[in-house]
Amino acid sequence: MLAMNCFKAGTLEDCIRQQAIELGFDHCRFTHARTPGTWPSYRSWVDAGMHGKMEYLARHSAKKADLSTVLPQVKSVITLAVSYFPGDSGVDEIGEMPVGAKGTVARYARYEDYHDVLKPALVRLVETIQSMVGPDENHLYYMDTGPIMERDLAQRSGLGFVGKHTNVISRDLGNWFFLGEILTTLDLKPDEPEKNRCGTCTRCLHACPTDAILEPFKLDARRCISYLTIELKGSIPEDLRSSIGDRIFGCDDCLAVCPWNRFAREGNLMHSARRDDLKRPDLLALLELDDEQFKKSFQGTPMMRSKRRGLLRNVCVALGNVGDEQALPALEKAKCEPEPLIAEHAQWAIDQILKRHTSSESQ
Ligand code: SF4
Ligand code: SF4
Repeated sequence: MLAMNCFKAGTLEDCIRQQAIELGFDHCRFTHARTPGTWPSYRSWVDAGMHGKMEYLARHSAKKADLSTVLPQVKSVITLAVSYFPGDSGVDEIGEMPVGAKGTVARYARYEDYHDVLKPALVRLVETIQSMVGPDENHLYYMDTGPIMERDLAQRSGLGFVGKHTNVISRDLGNWFFLGEILTTLDLKPDEPEKNRCGTCTRCLHACPTDAILEPFKLDARRCISYLTIELKGSIPEDLRSSIGDRIFGCDDCLAVCPWNRFAREGNLMHSARRDDLKRPDLLALLELDDEQFKKSFQGTPMMRSKRRGLLRNVCVALGNVGDEQALPALEKAKCEPEPLIAEHAQWAIDQILKRHTSSESQ
């Protein structure tokens, strides 16, 4: 009934947008499905190896150039945004000195897994579109998992612009939102593209703890803390460990300093999925988790992605950076873990704490 009524609102595009907003999306825009003009620079980025061990990015690169390999006869892409800005109560300052042995988790991960939260709304939107246009058209939805250049499509649809930190910024959501897309065989009228609005600002480049933003619009993922703490499955390069600080899952620093966040606003979809307990978890308690307890604590959250071995590896690094002698017994125990990845990082953390202890005693 809703779908039929909304045709009174105007065009098919107006109708889809209205449905999307009613389902809780914060933005809904349209673009054509042709190859993004930025694809060659994406390919060069992959060829330079800056995607690190994220092999799927290289594997997907041809598909990203030609969306018809993903959905035959595709003509348009519907781009969607969902805010995860937690409101002022959820904002923490970057650059604050770590207090005690607590870890920092990226803001997007302080919720139930967004794939689970967004999927029902995306499915519902696809079903609604299907009911409006009939069975002859095809549609396919994605949330960051598909072989599509979602940031570039978001900019081309006018949803936001790619900032110098390489993430998408919306003029009225700031940096805190998820993207979703629906590829469709419908020939929808494209919206006006957005243009870059960074101006002379370079805050994100200076804020990055590991100098991962090599120059505007060029991120070396191999140096990025989000990659190191989530995507990388093996050992974290030693020269980058101290810059990771107390971050145990992802990093927000380049996003958090962006002046466009003054326009950030809370959305509807993520609100009830908040997990405020994940804001500053206790590092020593995390180090105690066995497989079962890890699952119990993080099932249904993005933190499952790192698995226990990855998270405890990160916890060891954080303890090496912010822990004191009180952390040594737990680290000694972790050093005897059957999982070599955890044992190696535990040894590194012990060495760091002892080094700090020795130098403070000699002063
Ligand atoms: S997420 Fe953190 S480490 Fe990665 S580019 Fe941004 S500031 Fe640098
Ligand atoms: S911090 Fe400044 S340079 Fe970086 S993305 Fe935001 S506006 Fe652009």
